[in-house]
Amino acid sequence: MNADRSLESEFKSSFDSTKAIIKIAPFDPDLDRAKYTSMKECIICNSALGKAGIKKHYCKFCYNAVCNACSPFTGPHPESGKEERICNPCYINGLKLAVMDSCIEYIKLKLKTEIEEKEKEIAKRKQLALELEEFQKLPRKKKLKRCLKGKN
Ligand SMILES: [Zn+2]
Ligand SMILES: [Zn+2]
Repeated sequence: MNADRSLESEFKSSFDSTKAIIKIAPFDPDLDRAKYTSMKECIICNSALGKAGIKKHYCKFCYNAVCNACSPFTGPHPESGKEERICNPCYINGLKLAVMDSCIEYIKLKLKTEIEEKEKEIAKRKQLALELEEFQKLPRKKKLKRCLKGKN
């Protein structure tokens, strides 16, 4: 448990959210891509949009109608490959996915180095065990000689 917590804080201090590239989950095939057309309010702040209010935009990721203030960012669109308008909730989701991904990568890397270190240690121990085995096979006189040599 303790190790997990320190790994988590290690990750947090190494992760730079300003450099994170948001990640978009695959689109739901049932996603209604025309839903913004009939919407008259921003899905987030409920501001009136269109003729009765401010300019209507829509998020290219959830296809909800949004105002400009609620969609200040762009994100890499999985289909067009271009940077497209993204609403704040979709952006936050994308950021969460990005954080999760890099956390997993970070932990994988950490574990890999840990395993490599352990493997090295095991190899070293095997080597030592072999040397010990050989040493024990030696006649008593040679053993003594070796011990004396080792000391100098
Ligand atoms: Zn809004
Ligand atoms: Zn959205």
